[in-house]
Amino acid sequence: MDMDAFFASVEILRRPELKGKPVVIGGTGDPNRRGVVSTASYEARKFGVHSAMPLRTALKLCPACVFLPVDYNEYSRISMKIKKILFEISPLMEDVGIDEAYLDISALPEPPEETARLIKERVFRGTGLTCSVGIAPNKLLAKMASDLQKPDGLTFIGFEDVEKLIWPMGVRKLHGVGPKTEIYLKEAGLNTIGDIAAKSLEWLQEQLGKSYGQYLFEASRGIHESPIITEWNPKSISREETFELDVADWQQVARSLASLMRDVAGSMRESGYEAKTVTVKIRFEDFDTLTRARTLPAETDELDILRKAAFECLGRIELKKRVRLVGVRVMGLKPKNGAEGKQMPSPCSKDAR
Ligand SMILES: [Mg+2]
Repeated sequence: MDMDAFFASVEILRRPELKGKPVVIGGTGDPNRRGVVSTASYEARKFGVHSAMPLRTALKLCPACVFLPVDYNEYSRISMKIKKILFEISPLMEDVGIDEAYLDISALPEPPEETARLIKERVFRGTGLTCSVGIAPNKLLAKMASDLQKPDGLTFIGFEDVEKLIWPMGVRKLHGVGPKTEIYLKEAGLNTIGDIAAKSLEWLQEQLGKSYGQYLFEASRGIHESPIITEWNPKSISREETFELDVADWQQVARSLASLMRDVAGSMRESGYEAKTVTVKIRFEDFDTLTRARTLPAETDELDILRKAAFECLGRIELKKRVRLVGVRVMGLKPKNGAEGKQMPSPCSKDAR
């Protein structure tokens, strides 16, 4: 299950006047400032706007777009609702981000198409948002299926469909193929997933290493054995801010850190977690990056204690150069009320792409 343009859809839901308009969510919501697109509505995508694109580029492509800031707290809150709905349908759920999850529905009595419709209906009834569902024999194919008919899609892929549906896709559509591998594969004349599948195992392993070559050989045939990981506790919650202009003023860095910490603490309380460790990250103008961590005597979700720990970390970083980015992360998370928190899948900090 993958939510459709999640951040944008949440914003449009609470601002109905934006319905049908090109909407871009990213950074502070000011397209003249540094920052990237988190999510673009489908109307904005028609202008060529997409995730991870600088906001300034998005503004050039689509001057009529409505730009809004990222409101993680609200998206997390709705994500929790969605994960709860999914968890009630099948507790064999893998939470893979704020806007998507894998469900093992093989043991349910209903036929898969009925379960898929139930998921879509309950998510819509519970949140007012649409999602896309992909049904397949494994996670690799299910993810690709969920992408095929967005938005509000419902797509089945069986092993018998791999040749027709998957092989014509560009190599980048295969999970695990990043921009670097894409360039490498294209230079070797491999443009589609079918091109990969046409190569021998030996060739792929020789070119790309033993285990990655093996992975590509199998994945290009739709073979993927990775199980559903029912890990409900998030490992960490984090926020970071890239400054519009590199900052030399310690006060400004501290103010930003305090506000990020407030966001993280809010998110922790929202999802019912306490943390044991606080980590602060500073990236300087030359991309030199330092992190400092502080482990607390006991888990907490108290903002004062967390903020104090964050400032201690910051105090251990010498600010000799201008600062480009400040980030804070809490780790060692534990559900606050024991069983209740454990049952509640929590959104992690992954961006909704
Ligand atoms: Mg997604």
